[in-house]
Amino acid sequence: MQMNKKSLSTIFCCLLSLAPAAFAEEVVVYSARIEELIKPMFDAFTKETRINVKFFADKEGPLLERLKTEGKNTPADILITVDAGNLWQAAEEGLLKPVNSEILEANIPHHLQDPHNRWFGLSVRARTIVYNTQEVKPAELSTYEQLGDAKWKGRLCLRTSKKVYNQSLVAMMISEHGEAKTEQIVKSWVNNLATDPFSDDTRAMEAVAAGQCDITLVNTYYYGRLMEKNPTLPLAIFWPNQKQRGVHVNVSGTGITAYAKNEKAAIKLMEFLSSEKAQNLFADVNLEYPANPKIKADPVVVAWGSFEQNSINVAKAGELQAAAVKLMDRAKYK
Ligand code: FE
Repeated sequence: MQMNKKSLSTIFCCLLSLAPAAFAEEVVVYSARIEELIKPMFDAFTKETRINVKFFADKEGPLLERLKTEGKNTPADILITVDAGNLWQAAEEGLLKPVNSEILEANIPHHLQDPHNRWFGLSVRARTIVYNTQEVKPAELSTYEQLGDAKWKGRLCLRTSKKVYNQSLVAMMISEHGEAKTEQIVKSWVNNLATDPFSDDTRAMEAVAAGQCDITLVNTYYYGRLMEKNPTLPLAIFWPNQKQRGVHVNVSGTGITAYAKNEKAAIKLMEFLSSEKAQNLFADVNLEYPANPKIKADPVVVAWGSFEQNSINVAKAGELQAAAVKLMDRAKYK
């Protein structure tokens, strides 16, 4: 076949222009955080490194199942999910592998990462007290434990114990008080309930605002979202346990999958997510706290006031999760 100069150059031009796309590095992410919470960071990462990020978002349960089923054949390099309980579970099932990175060690405090480096927290969520400002004075509040006092009889609302957030909270209490004392505390909460536990944090706060009860326990970003929609609600945040171990915190975080095919690029993405450039994007879109303590939270979040956080390693939330579930069952916390 004869080829003239023009057609040769046409082919050459197009092979060249295809080359970067075809040979570019790529990372595949499985994410329990929805697209709008993660896409901005991935775009920033690709812009800086020219590494392409493909992602697949789903709920944490199905994502873990998928990783398990796919085994060695998984296309995923990175898992992003919420709650140390879930991250711990993934690591325990052999779905994640340890990462040695000086950057991650420097950026993420030790209590917010797996002691075996299989996952690292990226944002911090505080689970704290929200109260009705017309019914409760902040001076009446002090600790999580105190929500079981007789004066709160019929005035407490809680989210269901089926949600991992409350399992993690109770697990952290077990690590602090032991099982027997924690069971007494959880029983005293159940005894004070105004009504059956709610399916989510927002409903529990709405019940407090409506006067069905006066206090509840929620993750702060739900408070932020609700107040953004409805700023006149008589609700405020209280930071408990400031003279004790501090406010219960948890993380959303990330780890490299055990069978990652693009490990180097995946570590680069994890490091990027822990860096100054991405930390605000990661935390602020969901009104959370950056895990990297050098980065300031969103002004809306800063306005809720500062607090001491519990510095027990959040991995305890996973280790003691099964014990917490059984304990809540014994305490008849539904
Ligand atoms: Fe949540």
